[in-house]
Amino acid sequence: LGRGIKVANFLRIDGKALALAVQGELRDEVKSISSALNRPPGLAVILVGDNPASHVYVASKERAATNCGITPFDFRLAENSSQKELIELIHSLNLRADVDGILLQLPLPKGFDEESAIGSIAPEKDVDGLTANSQGHLFRDAPIFEPCTPKGVMALIDDARQKLGLGEDLSGLRALVIGRSSLVGKPVALMLLRRNCTVTMAHSRTKDLEEECRRADILIAAVGRPNMVKREWIKPGSFVLDVGINRLPDGKLVGDVDFVGASEVAAAATPVPGGVGPMTIAMLLKNTVESARRKISSQ
Ligand code: NAP
Repeated sequence: LGRGIKVANFLRIDGKALALAVQGELRDEVKSISSALNRPPGLAVILVGDNPASHVYVASKERAATNCGITPFDFRLAENSSQKELIELIHSLNLRADVDGILLQLPLPKGFDEESAIGSIAPEKDVDGLTANSQGHLFRDAPIFEPCTPKGVMALIDDARQKLGLGEDLSGLRALVIGRSSLVGKPVALMLLRRNCTVTMAHSRTKDLEEECRRADILIAAVGRPNMVKREWIKPGSFVLDVGINRLPDGKLVGDVDFVGASEVAAAATPVPGGVGPMTIAMLLKNTVESARRKISSQ
C-alpha cells in the first residue's frame, strides 16, 4: 500500500458514538434499578485541590452521570486539606447506602498519599477499579470492577470486530501493549490474556519496539508520546487502540499513534480525541450501575 491509499474497509473506531450508545442503554437500566431500590444509583466524586484538567474531567463525569439518571454527589476538598480528612470522607462514603460508587479524581495534590487514599475505598464501591484489592481480583481472574480505561478499550475492540463481521473470539491473536502502568497497561494486558490473546508488554526498555509492533494483531498504545507509533510499524489488517493523550505546542490533541498512517494500513483504529477517552467515562457509569444492581440481588 502506498502512502495516502486507504485499505478498502478501514474502520475509524468511533468511541464517542459507542459511549453515547452505552449511556443510552444505561439510562434504561437505571430506570429499572431506581424503581427496585427506590432511589437512583449514586456516584460520589471527590476532587482535591484545583488542578484545572481535573476540574474539567470531574465536570464531564458528573454531567454524563446525570444524563444517565445516576445521582452525582460532589465533594471538594481544598488543596491544603489533610490526608486524614480525605480518608475520613472516603470512610463516610463507604458507609452511605445511597452511594454505589466512589471516584477519587487523580492526581492528588503534592503531599497526599495516593496509594493509601485509593486503598481506603471499599472494594464493593471501587467503580474505578484501581484499588490493590480490585486489581488483585483481576489478576486472579475474578474481577470485582474492571478499571475503566482498559474496560473501554476492550469494549471498543469487541464493537469494531462486530462491525467488521468478525467473531468475539480473540483466541491466539497476538496483542502488544505498549506501557505498563497500573492504570492502563498492566490491567489491559491481563484483560487481553483473559480473552486468550498471546500478550506482549512493551515499555521504555523494550528493544526493537518497531519489530514488536509489526507482529501485533492488536496494538494498544498507552505511553504519552505524540505520534510515536508510525505507519510502517503497524501490521496490515490489525486493530490499533490509542490510549495516549498528548497536547502539542499548538494546542492540538494527538495520540501515541500516527492515526492517518494507521488508517492506511490497519483494519481499524481509534482517533484521538474521540476514541478511548469517551469510553473511559461510559465504563465508569457502567460500573456504578453494576454496583447498584448488585445491591438489588443482595436485598
Ligand atoms: P504512565 O504511567 O506515564 O506510563 C507510561 C508507560 O509508557 C510506561 O510504562 C513507560 O515505560 C512507557 N514508555 C515511556 N516511553 C516509552 C517508549 N519510548 N517506548 C515504549 N514505552 C515507553 O502513563 P499512563 O497513566 O499509563 O497513561 C499513558 C497515556 O494514556 C497518557 O498519555 C495518558 O494521558 C493517557 N491516558 C488516557 C486515558 C483515557 O481515558 N483516554 C486514561 C488514562 C491515561 P516505563 O514503565 O519503562 O517507564
